[in-house]
Amino acid sequence: MNPFSLLGFRDGAPGGATFCAFSTAEDRELEPVFHSASAAEADLAVELAVAAAPRLAATSGAERGALLRALAAGLEAQAAALAARAHLETALPLARCQGEIGRTCGQLRLFATEAESGRWADARIELAQPDRQPLPKPDHRSLRRPLGPVAVFGASNFPFAFSTLGGDTAAALAAGNPVVVKAHPAHPGTAAHCGQIARAAVREAGLPEGTFSLLFDAGHGLGAHLVRHPGLAAVGFTGSRRGGLALMELAARRPRPIPVFAEMSAVNPVFLLPGALAARGAEIATGLAASIQLGVGQFCTNPGLVLVPRSAATEDFLTALAGRISAASAEPMLTRDIHRAYVAAAAARAATSGVRLLARGATGSGARAEAQLFATTLADFRREPALGEEIFGPCSLVIECADLAEMRAFAEEMEGSLASCLFFQPEEIESARALAAVVATRVGRLVANAFPTGVEVSPAIVHGGPYPATSDGASTSVGSRAIERFTRLVCWQSCPPELLPRELH
Ligand code: NAP
Repeated sequence: MNPFSLLGFRDGAPGGATFCAFSTAEDRELEPVFHSASAAEADLAVELAVAAAPRLAATSGAERGALLRALAAGLEAQAAALAARAHLETALPLARCQGEIGRTCGQLRLFATEAESGRWADARIELAQPDRQPLPKPDHRSLRRPLGPVAVFGASNFPFAFSTLGGDTAAALAAGNPVVVKAHPAHPGTAAHCGQIARAAVREAGLPEGTFSLLFDAGHGLGAHLVRHPGLAAVGFTGSRRGGLALMELAARRPRPIPVFAEMSAVNPVFLLPGALAARGAEIATGLAASIQLGVGQFCTNPGLVLVPRSAATEDFLTALAGRISAASAEPMLTRDIHRAYVAAAAARAATSGVRLLARGATGSGARAEAQLFATTLADFRREPALGEEIFGPCSLVIECADLAEMRAFAEEMEGSLASCLFFQPEEIESARALAAVVATRVGRLVANAFPTGVEVSPAIVHGGPYPATSDGASTSVGSRAIERFTRLVCWQSCPPELLPRELH
């Protein structure tokens, strides 16, 4: 395994800080020792990307599609080794790692199809109308063009789908942008292997070496340096709100500010209407408990808040949900830092006035997380803004509302989230419709009678939402529409064919 950064086709050199991956499941450091890139190496990666940008922008959709398909084929050919390493580095189950590789290949092929079709460029041609009165109309032709070098910061909880060759990299390449990935230090071996697959595919395709680079760093210094580089055109980030906000601020303070498409944390409120609770409370409790614990709660779509009306059925529902959470085993989290943050955040929540602990799962050693379920009232929730923040782990907060009017009032006040769910019976459709109309103004995805975890990769999906779920509520980070983020619109007015891109002939 190559422990150095990949600067196009060149390798980084030893000399900077070093770090190792850590297995929380086995409580040990993993070989090899990785070498952080120096600032000069990061500069070289961006300079190579700047040099590659015009050639990449001029590639055909077929060329970019072929590159993306080669990346998918490379992942598939190496799937066994990749899944085994990701399983070691992240403590995610092997089957989950294998499944995520499949999802990532599907994602790469979806973007390949998008690149090949040319649909994403949204070419529009309006011919001149020289005889129009009172003024002649000039010829206008417009389409989307790539932005230039994109820095990609992936998240720890998706070592493939939101990492080195994940959605941001696929979307940026599909539109013809070079990519510089800041490898996530929680899974450097997985990142290194994916990086080698990318390097081989770029070489094989005959594309310039600056098409893809991968930089290692154990801290934040290199990422900050990268975002400040004048050659960079945009940033794709998936991770915590703190990380996303830090990069947004850095990008905004540049002499030439650039967009940061940050996909951050979310609490994904689940609204349970009284009829649904009365008719199938136990069934909903089982599904909700599974959704809270899925992936040890380490999903951006984790149901962090649950809104219930006060009723007899609610008591039964809470008893059933608490029973499921109490029965949960303690599972290893992705990293020791994430575990420490989870323990501290859950302890702070338990100590918050007006909050009571409803259930706690089994305890475990090392970085194993106990599932936890808390409850509060809407009045207490409003008093303590911290209760609205994501706790990254197997934890959720039930907010007891007096009635549907209070649930709707919460919806009107809630922060932007990636997703929100409504559970209702057919006879409650009018209440659900009124609530949905408000909730839809706050989220990227509104779900009826199902849980927020599980995001399809498809043309119609939206994985986004208003701030603070993302920095740019107008776009999505999953699905083929994600390509639009790494493009900008250009219009050619009265230009002869020689000046036009071929899509506009
Ligand atoms: P993270 O700690 O924010 O890390 C993400 C990446 O950004 C890492 O490479 C990290 O480097 C870097 N980074 C963080 N803060 C930085 C800063 N101030 N300056 C420069 N670089 C910085 O997030 P994570 O722990 O990997 O992932 C968990 C979070 O991601 C959760 O909040 C989860 O909800 C969210 N998430 C969101 C989505 C989505 O689609 N919206 C998907 C998955 C996960 P270091 O590791 O060196 O700090």
